[in-house]
Amino acid sequence: MMEILHVGIDDTDSKRRMCTTYVGAVALDRLRERGAKVEGFPKLIRLNPMWPHKTRGNCAVAFTLRVPPDEVEAVKETVLDTVLSLADLEAEGTNPGVVFYPRPEIPEKLKAYTRRVVQEVVELEEAEALAAEIGAEIHKFKEGRGIIGALAAVGHTLEGDCTYELIAYRTPENWGKPRRVDPSSVFEMDLLTRPRTFDNVDEESGEIRITPHTPCPVLYGIRGEDPEVLLRAHQLVRRLEPVERVVIYKTNQGTDEHLRRCRISEVRPYTSVILEGRVVAGPRTIPGGHVIFTLEDETGRVDCAAYEPTRGFRRVVRALRPGDRVRVCGGVREENGIPRTINLEKLSILELAPLFRRRNPRCPHCLKSLKSEGKGKGYSCKRCGAHFPHLKPELVRVEREVREGTFEVPPRCRRHLAKPLVRELSGGRP
Ligand code: ATP
Repeated sequence: MMEILHVGIDDTDSKRRMCTTYVGAVALDRLRERGAKVEGFPKLIRLNPMWPHKTRGNCAVAFTLRVPPDEVEAVKETVLDTVLSLADLEAEGTNPGVVFYPRPEIPEKLKAYTRRVVQEVVELEEAEALAAEIGAEIHKFKEGRGIIGALAAVGHTLEGDCTYELIAYRTPENWGKPRRVDPSSVFEMDLLTRPRTFDNVDEESGEIRITPHTPCPVLYGIRGEDPEVLLRAHQLVRRLEPVERVVIYKTNQGTDEHLRRCRISEVRPYTSVILEGRVVAGPRTIPGGHVIFTLEDETGRVDCAAYEPTRGFRRVVRALRPGDRVRVCGGVREENGIPRTINLEKLSILELAPLFRRRNPRCPHCLKSLKSEGKGKGYSCKRCGAHFPHLKPELVRVEREVREGTFEVPPRCRRHLAKPLVRELSGGRP
């Protein structure tokens, strides 16, 4: 008889070192060496992207093991030793947490908690109380804040929409050095595997997106709809440095799970929302090149912003006009001095307001454009000399510079959790 053990790990890295997925990957290999069986794919769970104290992408990892009963304690030791030896414990903000949950079924209460950690802000005390209630064992290093994410990663069953990411890790002597991957092979891989893989490159800036810019152990990560396409994509990438290990994670990335549909009066800081309403003011470009417009629904008004790095996306936002009906997706920013603003991730133009411009009427006799005689004095024709004291200016419908549809920020500005349009268009998972 084997026992089930769910393991969650979070908050092991700092801006200068490490990555929680790497800690998970090393722990998994050490556990396999001990004879533990890993169930399915390890999970890479992205948590609330608006949580202000995240290091970078707010991710936690979890995996499920089948362990002989007399090995359970040794397995836990292996996980804890791995965290202890790899986590950047000297960094001030690094507060690792490890969670062990010993039952096969994930309780509904834990699933609901996970949803909140992805969408809202959760206190450490709440994580501790829930762990005690459901019988999850927690291990805190330093302040142990990581148990919030570790418990959430255990609780995510990825039953709904999900994607996969293949991560290739570098050998330690290369950590911190420039990554050596042939960019042209990434463009080729993108061409051959898209849309089953996504966000490999940024067409607008011409950069490859699979290699991070941080000193962490990741050489690259390829995201896609299934493990098979990721293995194929991995074969197509030309690596110019050794790879220490490769792991495929099942993940909630690219699913829009962070977004909560609500009304403007219900918008809260540190969350991400979907709002529907009409443009009532703007768009206006502010110093720095950011474009802002004001959205209104029956409950209130809020500013929505396309920031400068979103470049081409701002063209769409600039083309909006008061009266347009739109749906916006984005994170809520509210900082000292900055009024509450939705940081746009996606924009759907649902209905374009008709736009008119005034023009002088034409002469009914010779069809030439009439000349105004001054306010309230009517018009006269320069060619035939006729005078029309009661004619009014004509309203002509103006062609809009934008069409109805959904638009998104470019891959380099995309949140890990944001669902790229290509996933929606290609139907996502089969
Ligand atoms: P990386 O993506 O580089 O691995 P990170 O961005 O995931 O790093 P962490 O170092 O894991 O950042 O720090 C995030 C911390 O915030 C963790 O301790 C985690 O438990 C906690 N946390 C995550 N989401 C929430 C939330 N919604 N509410 C409260 N705390 C959270």
